[in-house]
Amino acid sequence: MAGITPEVRALMRPSAAALEPYDPAFSPVDVILSANENNYGIPSEVAPILAEAVAGAAWNRYPAPLGGRLRARLAAWHGVAPEQVIIGNGGDELLFNLFLAFGGAGHTLVSCPPTFSVYDLYASMVETPVAEVFRGRDFAPNVDALAEAARTATLVVVTSPNNPTGDLFPREGVRRLCEACPGIVLVDEAYIEFSDPGSSVDDLLGEYENLAVLHTFSKAFALAGARVGYVLAGAPVVAALAAVRQPYSVSAPDQAAALAAVTHREAFRPAIEAIRLGRGRLSAMLGGLAPLGVRVWPSQANFVCARVPHAHDVWRRLRDEHSILVRDFSSTPGLEGCLRITVGTPGEIDLVAAALDTILKGE
Ligand code: PMP
Repeated sequence: MAGITPEVRALMRPSAAALEPYDPAFSPVDVILSANENNYGIPSEVAPILAEAVAGAAWNRYPAPLGGRLRARLAAWHGVAPEQVIIGNGGDELLFNLFLAFGGAGHTLVSCPPTFSVYDLYASMVETPVAEVFRGRDFAPNVDALAEAARTATLVVVTSPNNPTGDLFPREGVRRLCEACPGIVLVDEAYIEFSDPGSSVDDLLGEYENLAVLHTFSKAFALAGARVGYVLAGAPVVAALAAVRQPYSVSAPDQAAALAAVTHREAFRPAIEAIRLGRGRLSAMLGGLAPLGVRVWPSQANFVCARVPHAHDVWRRLRDEHSILVRDFSSTPGLEGCLRITVGTPGEIDLVAAALDTILKGE
């Protein structure tokens, strides 16, 4: 992509002028394990139903702004009122809207890095100061320090399971943040369907009016290409998010696809279970490379975080010599030497483990 010229940069709003276009570091490869997608795809029994629903969408009409039927179906599934649900163009749009609504100069965001980089990006776009409470040893969040920082925050964002470290944020910690923070506490549960049952904090929504929980169809529901996410929160917080959103941000075909996925959600279970099993197998295989200097952390998501010697070089050789793309975090503060590997299909797991073995043995 062409860079921003100094002339154009000079015209940009100050908070945007320091930014560069987002680079997902994608390269054409045979095995894509870099974006935590669901490599199993839409279950075969759901694919034709979904295709029919998409084809039958009212393409000539603007979509229902707040999602009409999809919103009602999500509310019924999660046992909340429709007014407590808001859909967005992927979780990304909802995160941006959260910062737009609750961030800005004089409004502080508390974050818990290393984590999903988009929070920092959106915070800087809307000129929100960020108080970073870094994770400690083995990426454990410092809940005491977070709760202290939350006391003067407008917004706290924690990620459970965290991207890219894979750990759940402790439930008791969420309670403490909701109690300490006068502002909104967002728990980003983009990967929660891959976690042990009972890991979601959705059930705390009835207790805390300042809690918001982010979900997406991009991961467990294999719809990253469709771009649909949703937030569950108290009705007034949802109303605030609705006030700043682009009215027609989720297209009618995308709403239809997400509705079909929710309706047939049980059909996604086998792939989710297979990914959980695959995660165990991949972690064990990486654990077996410990004598070669590999360290892997436990994960509750559809990816694992591993520290490997000469990580950037290994990442490049996986791509160039084995046509496997993983995500390189080795130059991110706190993640030195780390790669994030999506849990793919069993064949893909075998390929990446064998390739790492070959590269690290220097063959
Ligand atoms: N939260 C986290 C932690 C993520 O990793 C992602 C996707 N990478 C998202 C939110 C947003 O996903 P989407 O926009 O595809 O819903």
